[in-house]
Amino acid sequence: MSDAPKAATSWERVTILGVPMDCVTMTEAVLIADDLVRAGRKGAIFAINPEKIIAASENARLLEAINEAALLIPDGVGAVVAARLGGARTRRRVPGADLMPELCALAANRGYPVFVFGARPEVTPMACRALRDAYPGLKIAGYQNGYLSPADALALPARINDSGARFLFVGLGSPQQELWIHDNLPKLTTVNVCQGVGGTLDVLAGRVKRAPMAWQRSYLEWLYRILREPARIRRFPRLLTFAYRVWKEGVSLDAAPGIKRQ
Ligand code: UDP
Repeated sequence: MSDAPKAATSWERVTILGVPMDCVTMTEAVLIADDLVRAGRKGAIFAINPEKIIAASENARLLEAINEAALLIPDGVGAVVAARLGGARTRRRVPGADLMPELCALAANRGYPVFVFGARPEVTPMACRALRDAYPGLKIAGYQNGYLSPADALALPARINDSGARFLFVGLGSPQQELWIHDNLPKLTTVNVCQGVGGTLDVLAGRVKRAPMAWQRSYLEWLYRILREPARIRRFPRLLTFAYRVWKEGVSLDAAPGIKRQ
């Protein structure tokens, strides 16, 4: 039996307030990542949620980075609801925090080396240890915390190239990670898939708890995060702006895209 996966060739793409989002399932997202490696291409994967959509509609560089990405996963429930309003068939979120472990499982399976970049100095090695424990055989070719000196930052692309990593996970928070990936992916010679993972490294390291499954299933993970980290309430007005603007401006459903080349 061949282990060649079915290629993920087409999927619905919506445009929400000028920001694209790919209505893929988790299985399709993993296939698309695998396709990038097999085809020797290079692409970024970003998570799309209401907060990032509003941020991108106000930040031309972030929008440019998003427009250049290979895959824009439906991370936030508000974005999925908006896509449905626009006529997309999608139902499920593909949270970035769930995709990263799935990609690590794929990497362990196929022998793709991974590089992990981001989070506080004590968190990054803990997250890598957790990944190695969860996915025996996973080759972590290198890691770097997200609080590096300007000199180390300058040297990082060459270090990643020397590591031979095919998957790169960048957890610097948004929009820093999207901008870093946009500026640096062209310099990376071995990386095929580069995912912006936000605070996922803190979750893997056990420093931050994801919402219990019941909250996630009730589409309330965003509320759980605000309750756990009250400072996040600052971000709430963006969610209201999002709901108001989607209601006013609507959502458009585009033709299915292919994988973009970089
Ligand atoms: N971070 C970093 N370098 C920085 C600023 C932030 O590595 O200069 C890390 C931070 O330690 C945390 C992540 O970026 O691990 C941001 O997490 P958050 O949950 O705020 O990200 P979000 O997904 O909400 O953008």
